[in-house]
Amino acid sequence: MTVKKPIQPSFDEKSCRHILSLSGGKDSTALALYMRDRVPNLEYVFCDTEKELKETYNYLEKLEVHLGKAIQRIRPDIGFDDLLEQRRNFLPSPQVRWCTEYLKIRPFERFIGTDQVVMYVGIRADEPHRKGYISTKPNIHARLPFVEDGLRLKDVMRILEDSKLGIPEYYKWRSRSGCFFCFYQQRREWVGLLETHPGLFKKAMKYERKDPVTGEMYTWVQGESLSELADPKRVAQIKADYEKRRASEPSVLKEASLLSVFEMQCSGERAGCVICHL
Ligand code: SF4
Repeated sequence: MTVKKPIQPSFDEKSCRHILSLSGGKDSTALALYMRDRVPNLEYVFCDTEKELKETYNYLEKLEVHLGKAIQRIRPDIGFDDLLEQRRNFLPSPQVRWCTEYLKIRPFERFIGTDQVVMYVGIRADEPHRKGYISTKPNIHARLPFVEDGLRLKDVMRILEDSKLGIPEYYKWRSRSGCFFCFYQQRREWVGLLETHPGLFKKAMKYERKDPVTGEMYTWVQGESLSELADPKRVAQIKADYEKRRASEPSVLKEASLLSVFEMQCSGERAGCVICHL
């Protein structure tokens, strides 16, 4: 952990709004705690896709108590189900990620309007590969306090432990925040959804449909439908494959917590985007 020090402004930040966008994940939450006493008038916001896990909503409520401030919920103009219908049930994917655009980025940019904003982003010093939405508008100035101050995963965990807030419940079976059906989930995490929230798994299954025109089947996981994945034999195989992968990993990974393992497996393309999963 580093000693608290004031963030040095790189331009006239006094007249700006200061905003920290939370995803419900550990990094943005730790950043909120880290910045709480450093930046007066910091606004906390959460772009709610309305398809989040209940653990995320509970976690944000607990965080509000720690911050002593309300987290403003920003909701999309059009919900996911209507957006999907407009796209003839063409599910979003890492390659065509329309969900982030409509459920997160546009509502956030509408919320900001033309105001000059300093936006605090929880990218850590040990994840230089991380990229995604930080700012596309000239009136949004991104700051990366963890990178500026050299804070890494262990520091983030320490901030959360020291605050007694801890990490969100869903980290027991899933590596990131976001929609319950997020396509960035690995097969082992889909099994986690099936076992932890069978009702949500069924809802995710219902989104998988055939295009009536092309006959193409839209699935969340490439090459496999959720009904196939939920077959008990397949579930056992996915779990066995996961354990096998873990067993063949270097001892440092074997000793790591599930969360750290997911962290290390989720680099690069699998890392997801900053606004949804930080
Ligand atoms: S969490 Fe996943 S599914 Fe939800 S908006 Fe973000 S990328 Fe899309």
